[in-house]
Order: sequence, then structure tokens, then C-alpha cells
Amino acid sequence: MKSDLVIVYHRQPYEEVEENGKTVFRENKSPNGIVPTLKGFFGQVDQAAWVAWKLAEDPSNPGFERQIDINDSFGSYRVSRLPLTDAQVKSFYHVSSKEAFWPILHGFKERYNYDPVDWSTFREVNWAFAEAAAAEASDDAVVWIHDYNLWLVPGYLRQLKPNVRIAFYHHTPFPSADMFNVLPWREEIIDSLLACDAVGFHIPRYSQNFAAAVRSLKGSKVSRDMPTDPAMARKGAALADLVTPVAIAHEGREVRMDTNPVGVNFNYIETLASTDEVAEKVKSVRAELGDCQLVLSVSRTDYTKGNIEQLETFERLLQRRPELKGKVRLMLVSVGANRNMTAYEEVQQKIEELTGRINGTFGSFEWQPVSLISSAIPLKDLVAYYRAADVASITPLADGLNLVASEFCAAKGQAPGALILSEFAGCAVLLDGAIPVNPFSHASMDSALDQALAMQETEALDRMKRLRQSAARWDIESWTQAELALFRELGQAKTS
Ligand code: UDP
Repeated sequence: MKSDLVIVYHRQPYEEVEENGKTVFRENKSPNGIVPTLKGFFGQVDQAAWVAWKLAEDPSNPGFERQIDINDSFGSYRVSRLPLTDAQVKSFYHVSSKEAFWPILHGFKERYNYDPVDWSTFREVNWAFAEAAAAEASDDAVVWIHDYNLWLVPGYLRQLKPNVRIAFYHHTPFPSADMFNVLPWREEIIDSLLACDAVGFHIPRYSQNFAAAVRSLKGSKVSRDMPTDPAMARKGAALADLVTPVAIAHEGREVRMDTNPVGVNFNYIETLASTDEVAEKVKSVRAELGDCQLVLSVSRTDYTKGNIEQLETFERLLQRRPELKGKVRLMLVSVGANRNMTAYEEVQQKIEELTGRINGTFGSFEWQPVSLISSAIPLKDLVAYYRAADVASITPLADGLNLVASEFCAAKGQAPGALILSEFAGCAVLLDGAIPVNPFSHASMDSALDQALAMQETEALDRMKRLRQSAARWDIESWTQAELALFRELGQAKTS
């Protein structure tokens, strides 16, 4: 049976585990995160499918289960699994996507690694995703493709199944035209994206950048004035006015561009934060802190996330203000994903070195200035740390959106809290009440931390109120409703 909605996302929509020699597909427990959010869309159609890759030693092995029918709390859906070898995954994901595209998407030209990219493998894997999606889709299905590692899928899918409606969502920033055009495959990528009916981004700046890249390569026209980013342009425009879609006219077709930021599951996190279990944990964390202020920073270990700059700022704080000895602590949760990649290993090593240096230089038997946590913390513990922290310091050098900042606000409830937020996190455009910071400037980082640590409770309460209002306005429900409206409109455009 063909599906009316096909989600194409590289990861499988469940945890696959071995239990007593049998493979079990276990539902992800928390409704927070991109996988459960996307699965939530299955409830909107009778028949849905998901396309993902799965590691296979021998892809031609007839025993490999390509299609699995799942029935869980999200409903019944089909998962189509692409068998990829270790070498294919390394080439298409770790090398092409993470070593070449990722640095360019985030503006780190100097980290961009062109030589090891095997473009034919990238094409081959994207073609396989397109074929799998085409096989699952009904003739007028919506096929919803996610993220830059699948950039070529729309173009291939249009060839394989011309009548389906294709929507593509970028979870990362989209860089300026000069930056994007560094990629030698730029025209092929843009041609593929222009085969979509709709291309989606988190914030206006990324939509603008995409339109500029299209213009620079194709000369295509945008249907009306592009919205600008309120945070950067300082025009005071309400973001709600800026998320109206615009279209790019290309070869007689219109490609719609949507600005629609993904959000967090605000109500779920708020409710979780008020459970007895979390309250107990908060109490014990605060008891351990005594009269120390807690600065919390949470992210993956990545050169884009500013973890090193964060530690350097904290080191300068202790050098600049010796009176804070024994009065402040930094908890740095830096989760070491992709440990097999040199770029990330280097960052992890630097983080460990800096943590050791700060603790060695300033710490005492009674007081350890920095606590480094390198493995993932379950959401309910994370929520307890959000709640216990005086300050959340989120200082990426570039970040598509950043969910942690909004989770901190959701978890805080009626409690005060200060949020230091990089101007280069996408959510800086959405969240009202944060202390803005430029992570490339020592002066800006230092003064933001001073301001946050000195903030009076009344100001922290007022700021948190505004932050929570904006995080709740741009929560996951808002994203979901806008995407569903898009699918409906694409459907109507088709039938009219
Ligand atoms: N996260 C987690 N445990 C950790 C650290 C992070 O569950 O120890 C989650 C966090 O709650 C958030 C996500 O990981 O939902 C990170 O999302 P974000 O958009 O901030 O960054 P990304 O890693 O997607 O770039």
C-alpha cells in the first residue's frame, strides 16, 4: 500500500535493540526531539512511511529486512530501510556532509575539507533515498525530506515521480551566497532544491541567504520583498509578519520558501520540571551548591557550539574577579558525538585540557570551579539542572536554532533565571529577554557573564517571563501547525 505522507530522514524512527536474541523496535520514550515530533505527523494521514538508512555489512544479503511495518503509539506506519555499508555511511555522512557541508553551512571556511569528498557516492546514496521514497509514495503524496545530507533527493525524486509534492526542511543555517558558493557542487544542489514545491528554514536570514544563492547561480526572481531578520536588522518588526512565505520563480514554476522555526515541547518540559522526582533532584543540586551561583552550558561537542569560548570566558572571570572564588561554578555538559571524527576529537581534547587547567589553577579541596559532563544526560535530569541553574549560557559561534535555550525557559516555570544567548543562534531572533552576546568578542562575553551573575531577582523574573512567552509562542505546536497548513496548501495547489 502506498503512503500519502513519506518522511525522509536519515535516522530510523525507533531504537533498534537486541533482546534475548531477537530484534526489538523500541519507541523513543521522550516526546521531546525531532524523531517523535516528525512521527507526530503520522496521525494526520491514513497511510504513512518513513525512509532511513541502516548499516548492513552486505547490502545484497536477501535476509536484510528492507521494509518493516510498525505499530506503536503514533499509529501504523511503514519504515523503508536503505542498507548502506560502513564505507557508504562514512563517505556520504561523515565526510561529504560533516567535513564539507557542515563547516560551510556554519561559516567555517577554514575547516572545510574538499579533497576526501567522493561525490559519486553522495549521489548514489541520495539516489537510493529518492528511489525508496518514490516506491513508498502514492501519486499525489507529500514527500518531506530533511536536511542537507539529502540535498540531492528532491531532484532525483522529481525525475522518478514527477507528480508528488516535495517539501524540504533545513535544520541548519543556510549560509550567505559567498559562503555557499564555495561548494563546487553548488549548482547541482540548488537545481535539486529548486525541484521542490516548498523549502523551509528556521529564520528569515536563512531564507534570504537561500534566495541570494539561487539568484547568484540562476538569476531567478523572488516574488516579493524578502523579510529581514529583526534581531540583526534591529527594525523591531514582529517575527509573525516575517514568516509569510515567499516564492522563487524558476523555469515557469514557483518554489515556495517558508520560514518556520522548530520549537521545543514547551508544555511537556514545563510539566516534567514540576514533578516530585525533578524537584528532589533540584533540591539536592542546590544543597550541594551551597551559596555558589551555577552557570550551566549544554551542547554537543562541536567547534560551532562555542564550548571552548565558554570555558575561556569562565577562566577570564576567575582571573578578573578573584572575589568570586568559591562563589560560582560552571557546569559544562558537552556531549561527545561523532568521536571518530578528528575535528570533534580536537575540540573534546581542548575542552578537557581547559577544564583541567581551570580546576588546577583556581580549584581547592572544597570548590571545583568547572564540572565537565561528556556523556548525554537524560532529559529529566537535564531539566533538573536547568531548574537549578542561576544562569544558562548558550554561546554558539553559529547554530541553526538551538533548542537548549528554549528548554531552559520552559523548565524554569515561575522561577527566576538569566539566559546569555549568542546572537548567532537562530533562536536569538525569537527569544525576547535574553542577554545577547557576541561569542567572537571577549569584551562581550565578559560583560554578559558579569551582567547575568549580578542580575537582581526582579529583573531575572521579568526577563524569564518574556523569555517563556516567546519560547511558548514558537514551540513545537506552532511549527507543526504551520507545516500541516503547508501540506494542505500544497494539496490544494495540486487539485486546483
Ligand atoms: N540533550 C540531551 N542530553 C544532553 C544534552 C542535550 O537530551 O546531555 C538534548 C537537549 O535537550 C536538546 C538537544 O539535545 O533537545 C540539543 O538540541 P539543540 O538544538 O540545542 O542542538 P543540536 O545538537 O541539535 O545542534
